[in-house]
Amino acid sequence: MSDSIFTQIIKGKIPSSKVYEDDEAIAFLDIHPVNKGHVLVVPRKQYRNIFDTPEETMAHLIVVAKRVAKAVKEAVKADGVNIVMNNEPAAGQMVTDHVHLHVIPRHIGDGFREWFGVGTYNAGEMDEYAERIKKACD
Ligand code: AMP
Repeated sequence: MSDSIFTQIIKGKIPSSKVYEDDEAIAFLDIHPVNKGHVLVVPRKQYRNIFDTPEETMAHLIVVAKRVAKAVKEAVKADGVNIVMNNEPAAGQMVTDHVHLHVIPRHIGDGFREWFGVGTYNAGEMDEYAERIKKACD
């Protein structure tokens, strides 16, 4: 895999506004924020998305996201924070060659909606979907 834009940031070839780093991950400001203070948490090692990222790396990313979320909330006086992860283009993943978590500060009335959740199930369909997913979890 060639170097992703985030690997280039990690290697210092592209500038970034870093807010946190450790041996396994870094966090920096998203260049096009939903709200100011929007941070991306990225593993140093390049994986595509949740589907090929090892469990230990995912676990570390969420630990870093928790730390950053607390810092962002305090620093920008946010009312809340979303942790968002887009996996594959169909789910909105634009940087498709380097897994990342978004830490997005939210303010009451900022108008940002991730999804509307207006779908419904037909009678019996919920059980069917649950059963299919349950089987795939095994
Ligand atoms: P996603 O759609 O989940 O793949 O999000 C990718 C994010 O990376 C977008 O929100 C972009 O604004 C952000 N991004 C792309 N290039 C850079 C960059 N050079 N520095 C900081 N953020 C970037």
